[in-house]
Amino acid sequence: MTRRGEFELIASLFAPLSSEASGALSLTDDAALIDVAPGCELVATIDTLIAGVHFRVDDPPDLVARKALRVNLSDLAAKGARPIGVLQAITLSEATDDPYLEAYARGLGEDLRHFGVPLLGGDTTAHRSPAAAGRGGPFTITIAALGEVPRGQAILRRGARPGELVCVSGTIGDAALGLFALEGRLPPVSPEHYDVLVGRYRLPEPRLALGLRLRGVASACVDLSDGLCADIGHICEVSGVRAELQWHALPISPAAQRRLADDPSLKQLVLGGGDDYELAFTLPIAHRSAVQGLAAQTGIPIAIVGRVRESSGHERDGVTVLGENGEPIQVEKSGYTHV
Ligand code: ADP
Ligand code: MG
Repeated sequence: MTRRGEFELIASLFAPLSSEASGALSLTDDAALIDVAPGCELVATIDTLIAGVHFRVDDPPDLVARKALRVNLSDLAAKGARPIGVLQAITLSEATDDPYLEAYARGLGEDLRHFGVPLLGGDTTAHRSPAAAGRGGPFTITIAALGEVPRGQAILRRGARPGELVCVSGTIGDAALGLFALEGRLPPVSPEHYDVLVGRYRLPEPRLALGLRLRGVASACVDLSDGLCADIGHICEVSGVRAELQWHALPISPAAQRRLADDPSLKQLVLGGGDDYELAFTLPIAHRSAVQGLAAQTGIPIAIVGRVRESSGHERDGVTVLGENGEPIQVEKSGYTHV
């Protein structure tokens, strides 16, 4: 296995990705300098992805890099922030060789250009394999994304009020079904549907354009990383409300609908599975008429899926999903918890 040294790695693969930001100082200094527009707040978020936990060891490295970036941009989108740059800390495994890192950096560069975001800095470390055990730790990526938002205009989780509408962008459940498909846990799927579902798992689309337009419109927002019910549940918890969703109103792609027709128990993946990185937000009724315009301006479908209700006073009354018969659907797995 060949692997270039730390400084050569930074200079050859990562410094080129910083060229759009003069404050990154070509990754040759101790830290980066970042300008924030006057009147704006800095929005900061960070996420770690561990091989074997958050992505599969045999996932293509360029897609792994792009996903690591995108899940962070999705957090900025959910706050209505405009991205200004990212930092990345990577810890190499024994198996992370030059070809892997080259593909990783190529994917990262491609997406940084696509989203117009520079790499501002990072850190590079490697596991040392304990000689006796013969195995070191897994390749691990931590990306921090920085964004800006006019002061006071970030869309927080805590703003939902009873009577408001609950909305969701795009379609949900595809990514969890995609992971099931990759793991061979779905009945046979047509090649087109397989690609749609697996693509949603491997390469989420951060809803940045929608997030910007939700400023001053949505009362609360969260991106769907842990699962529909779990994430809307997070809004409920910090807003002191509960939510009532209608199963028939949930936006489900044709590929996912087909899977549900084959196996209705997969409903649980739609409600509880994560990784879709759509936005769920609450909307005061006065803004109901804005929904169509938002969808038209961004090209992202938006579904009104339910209502915010007054808390029943129970400690964790969270999210209820009502089926066609008006009866609540039991949600088995309410989101991914990380530890
Ligand atoms: P220090 O020892 O002062 O923390 P480093 O030697 O770790 O500095 O890093 C030198 C420069 O390279 C810094 O600008 C740092 O942000 C950047 N850098 C290091 N590793 C990475 C990486 N994986 N991706 C992007 N930038 C990196
Ligand atoms: Mg230093």
